[in-house]
Amino acid sequence: MIMEFIFQMPTKIVVGEGCIYKNSNLLTRLGKKALIVTGKSSAKKNGSYNDVVNALNKEGIEHILFDEVEENPSLETLEKAKNMAFGADFVIGVGGGSPMDAAKGIAIMLKHAEICANNLICGKQLDAVPVVAVPTTAGTGSEVTQYAIFTDYNAGTKVNYGHKIFPHIAFLDATYMINMPIDITRYTALDALSHLIESYLNTKSNIMSEIYVQKGIELFSTCIEALLKGELSINDRQKLLLVSTYAGMAIAQTGTSIPHTCGYNLTYYENIPHGAANVLFYRAYLNSFKNKERAFDILGWLGIESIDKFANLIDTLLAKYKIKCSTEKLQKYTDITFSNKLKLANHPEEVTREMILKIYQDSL
Ligand code: NAP
Ligand code: ZN
Repeated sequence: MIMEFIFQMPTKIVVGEGCIYKNSNLLTRLGKKALIVTGKSSAKKNGSYNDVVNALNKEGIEHILFDEVEENPSLETLEKAKNMAFGADFVIGVGGGSPMDAAKGIAIMLKHAEICANNLICGKQLDAVPVVAVPTTAGTGSEVTQYAIFTDYNAGTKVNYGHKIFPHIAFLDATYMINMPIDITRYTALDALSHLIESYLNTKSNIMSEIYVQKGIELFSTCIEALLKGELSINDRQKLLLVSTYAGMAIAQTGTSIPHTCGYNLTYYENIPHGAANVLFYRAYLNSFKNKERAFDILGWLGIESIDKFANLIDTLLAKYKIKCSTEKLQKYTDITFSNKLKLANHPEEVTREMILKIYQDSL
């Protein structure tokens, strides 16, 4: 078969300890006033917020702070940020996937004053003022993807709002993760791994996205012992941050697949963190995948012999997030998942409602 694909990665990636301050000149091209978007507290504790402010001060760039982004940000939060961000030329998202995604949504509303958060999901492709991303978790890869996911209480689910906002610059400094609690470390690392796997077992996987997938999974495998022990060196943190960025570069080309669609329900209805919510389905998902050669490629890169052993590792790392759900709930989640045709189209094999229900039943 003749290959046909587009590989797009427009984000400038800057890596290293202190990289924001050292490369602050890169910010001067983006404008004279920045909006900094963070979660409620971690950015101030881990040094990332200070580093961003010092870099802006060094370049004489004014800033406003919005520090109210909750986990899985809602459209209401974006609206609140927009109302106080007037006059900002660009947005800097500092934190995990939640503040980075929120930064993308706010950046669209700053460019299009007529747009309010409720009509961000409008089916049209909108552009945005520049976004800079400073990840402080190693999981979502949002610093190099065009996606942003929001909680939409009217729709009763989490939605990918459909615009394509790649950050202009991603500053990767693993020192912000040194004191990250082990639970967050584990579920965010597994989120990155799930991006790599769902990118590979995907209709849109291609020879270039697969380079990042293989390297990312091999790098992840070198961190398994540390994740199990719960003791991560700065070297492990750096590796996991790269795993997450490789994974973001891969899903920017392919998107994710069935486990992410299932996971949105666990996050929305059962309050399970995003990273944990996806991989809880992996035993059933990988067992249901018919092309075992492809699944075994992944196990080979991980250095794990079987799907069962891999699923046992996930169970060990995420023991506290295992839940049971009633039959009614499983039916409801199956219906929501099965209606997400766009996401299911990424699965390269036939998808039936029965298959989705079985993945839920076997997992919860
Ligand atoms: P998160 O929701 O951004 O943050 C989770 C928790 O970690 C928060 O309590 C946060 O505290 C804390 N935290 C962040 N950095 C920390 C650090 N360095 N040390 C200690 N605590 C820290 O988690 P996430 O898993 O990174 O992001 C999940 C979101 O990203 C979901 O909404 C998901 O849908 C989305 N996502 C987006 C993409 C994409 O491509 N755009 C891909 C996957 C997932 P604070 O709240 O105080 O900051
Ligand atoms: Zn994810």
